[in-house]
Amino acid sequence: MSALKLYSTSTRSVAPFQPIEAGKVGIYLCGATVQANPHIGHIRSGVNFDILRRWLIASGFDVTFIRNVTDIDDKILHKAVHEEIPWWAVAMKYERAFTEAYAALNVLPPTYEPRATGHVTQMVQLMERLIANGSAYAPGNGDVYLDVRSLKRYLTLSNQKLDDLQPAEDADLTYKKDPRDFALWKAAKPGDPSWPTPWGDGRPGWHLECSAMAHAYLGEEFDIHGGGLDLIFPHHENEIAQSEAAGWGFARTWMHNAWVTTAGEKMSKSLGNSLQVVELLKRVRGIELRWYLGSAHYRSMLEFSFEALEESSVGFRRIESFLHRSKEIIGAEPELTIAPEFADAMNDDLAVPAALAFISEQARLGNTAITSGDKAAIVLRAGNVRGALNVLGCDPFDAVFATGSAASTETLDGLISLALQQREAARARKDFATSDAIRDTITELGITIEDTAAGPRWTVGR
Ligand SMILES: [Zn+2]
Repeated sequence: MSALKLYSTSTRSVAPFQPIEAGKVGIYLCGATVQANPHIGHIRSGVNFDILRRWLIASGFDVTFIRNVTDIDDKILHKAVHEEIPWWAVAMKYERAFTEAYAALNVLPPTYEPRATGHVTQMVQLMERLIANGSAYAPGNGDVYLDVRSLKRYLTLSNQKLDDLQPAEDADLTYKKDPRDFALWKAAKPGDPSWPTPWGDGRPGWHLECSAMAHAYLGEEFDIHGGGLDLIFPHHENEIAQSEAAGWGFARTWMHNAWVTTAGEKMSKSLGNSLQVVELLKRVRGIELRWYLGSAHYRSMLEFSFEALEESSVGFRRIESFLHRSKEIIGAEPELTIAPEFADAMNDDLAVPAALAFISEQARLGNTAITSGDKAAIVLRAGNVRGALNVLGCDPFDAVFATGSAASTETLDGLISLALQQREAARARKDFATSDAIRDTITELGITIEDTAAGPRWTVGR
């Protein structure tokens, strides 16, 4: 079997993955700024990095996965004014919305999920360190800035030159040494939340939060830092600047997921509401939405359309149906097998499209085996399919996706069987009005009846 290779934005190449400590992997993923309901653009990152995490776990690694919550930010403060509730209520409300969306899409909860406001002490300690070694300064206005000219290297991830960087038009040089210096800490404005520091009350800059939290949970140097493409500059460049200026090795591999696009552009605000996770879950099930979001390679743009989502869901249901039929024939849930071909695809910088081609082929061969009654082949193919789906977080037998308890499933089974018997009885006595009415009601409830050799089989779906 091949060994894992990953693409790093810092080297712009695919290279064998070597953990710092054998058998262990530390990952930091930039989490949400909790100021609105999550849309699929936000959640794609969570799904992509969850696939990475699940694959590392399946490969035998002990994974520590950190995803932070940015719970203080200008946008949160604006939302608080707009919604007429305290800023912390805004943060809590949308943090819960994100947690629910991640759960609905079977994204594993992070090992630790630090909130920025809970780590101000670590941020102050980092600033003290940076001021002491001359890479940051507090000019007396309550702000603290990073001195970008003091850095040994800067902008290597985005491959830019400092001299080419256009300073912001409103850059104020009253306090900044260089217009490109960025704020680690922002002085308190009247009425805004603030925390005390040796340089005055204020609140953290976004970049500082991630450097301090990654250090707190993963140490000075760790394996993988992830985030969306749009975070490369300035966010990740500034995380690197702060952390390296502190003398830390920071992240060895940088992984960035591409965007969800609509009409070739980064997801537009106008479509934002209809592409919220809660809205899309009215159209498809969580497992289907996850399948769709995870289907493109993480470094490829995912061009969203409702038609593509529907088509992807139909395709997924065929694979799911194969697994359910296999379970009935085998008399048990299929095994979780990692086939070498699937492993090779995942080890090749998480080549999910190649993995999906393997899954489709296995399901096709499995269906052929069902037709010919080759039980050994059904066991083999179903195991390969289920094992692969499990790594992609789309195992239909995962308890997360069960629509109800075993008891309620049994009750529903009984009721649907009864309805089907009544329909058969009505047809037998040529009472077609009744038999049609029963069929229509079953269809309206979103229940699909499939006639199989073992009698009718039903599935609940949208
Ligand atoms: Zn970050």
